[in-house]
Amino acid sequence: MSISQKNTKKSSNSILDKCYGFTKAQEIREQGFYPYFIPIESEQDTEVMIKGKKFLMLGSNSYLGLTNHPKVKEAAVEAIKKYGTGCAGSRFLNGSLDLHEILEHKLAEFIGKESALVFSTGFQTNLGTISALSSKDDFVLIDKIDHASIIDGTRLGFGKTIKYQHNDMNDLERILRMCGDCGKLIVIDGIFSMHGDIADLPGIVKLAKEYNASIMLDDAHAIGVLGEKGNGTAAYFGLDDDVDIVMGTFSKSLASIGGFIAADSEVIDYIKHHGRALIFSASIAPPCAAAVCAALDIIINEPERREKLWHNAHKMLNGFKRMGFNTGASETPIIPLIIGDDMKAFQLWRALHDNCIFVNAVVYPAVLPGNALMRISVMATHTDKQLDRALEVIEKIGKEIEII
Ligand code: PMP
Repeated sequence: MSISQKNTKKSSNSILDKCYGFTKAQEIREQGFYPYFIPIESEQDTEVMIKGKKFLMLGSNSYLGLTNHPKVKEAAVEAIKKYGTGCAGSRFLNGSLDLHEILEHKLAEFIGKESALVFSTGFQTNLGTISALSSKDDFVLIDKIDHASIIDGTRLGFGKTIKYQHNDMNDLERILRMCGDCGKLIVIDGIFSMHGDIADLPGIVKLAKEYNASIMLDDAHAIGVLGEKGNGTAAYFGLDDDVDIVMGTFSKSLASIGGFIAADSEVIDYIKHHGRALIFSASIAPPCAAAVCAALDIIINEPERREKLWHNAHKMLNGFKRMGFNTGASETPIIPLIIGDDMKAFQLWRALHDNCIFVNAVVYPAVLPGNALMRISVMATHTDKQLDRALEVIEKIGKEIEII
């Protein structure tokens, strides 16, 4: 389409005006600082290929490095041979496989709940579950920096939503008191996705008991990472029986795509019949379900991967702190280098990109305005040599652009 045709469109007072008037991304592209939608030409590993060059990957959620594990890949291939590439329907109708049920049994056992239910993505898991539970007279209480899918789940429900200050138990108590005798659900990230700190689950459990609230824990980033068996935040705190619903995704340690909840069988049965994101969306594809089954077996049988992940996380956290970076309250493999200004974050990103280091520049709305950060995430499969090189380069650039 010619520029003049586009200009005519722009002046027509159409709903698309906002698109034609949206220039911010293009401006940042033109300055050479645009860090998003970068195509990777290889497997998601500690090193990836971008435009034919080898990059050190410090921005992956494949915490245990299982997305290219031979057994996980083989399980996916075998599932395609047996079941084909897709299910062509929702779990509710023609899209349920025995493989989905096998996976749900494994997940329920792993988390320590009666039942589990698999959704097509982690995002949909939160949308479907929270919206189904949040009825007219209910309250959903969420942490101010909970993941976007939790926020959107509350928007689809009919109940009222109140945010409390991040990990602030006094503020949560103030709000719980306000809610009175209504149904109350507290929804929290176990490990906060951008900041890498851990929810104050003991504090939340104490308040939930006192004020008769239920708890839903989003363990997207904690599965495979926290807890003796890698079974998440509740296990880490020894509070398995005090959390009502555990949610997880398959897109991080579980090496695939999809999501699940685990809870009492009555809760699962209710969501099965009320969760619109489940009922009206096609089920997870066979290779994805099979890959998760294989990844779970590895998580259970190879605790040394988790130990290596924590070795790497501590090494990087200590290294960044020593250099003078602000890593906030992170204590996990998700390490934010908190910068504040968006353009400064893009500048750091660009310098690291030029040094073939892949990291994620995070700005509003993924974090609060003015809280731009570089999200570094480590994997169990990173070597000390790779991480030492990263620390060296990041320190040098951090000094050059005066953020440390
Ligand atoms: N919850 C949290 C805390 C997340 O970080 C994410 C993804 N980044 C999701 C839910 C959504 O999961 P998925 O990407 O698997 O849809």
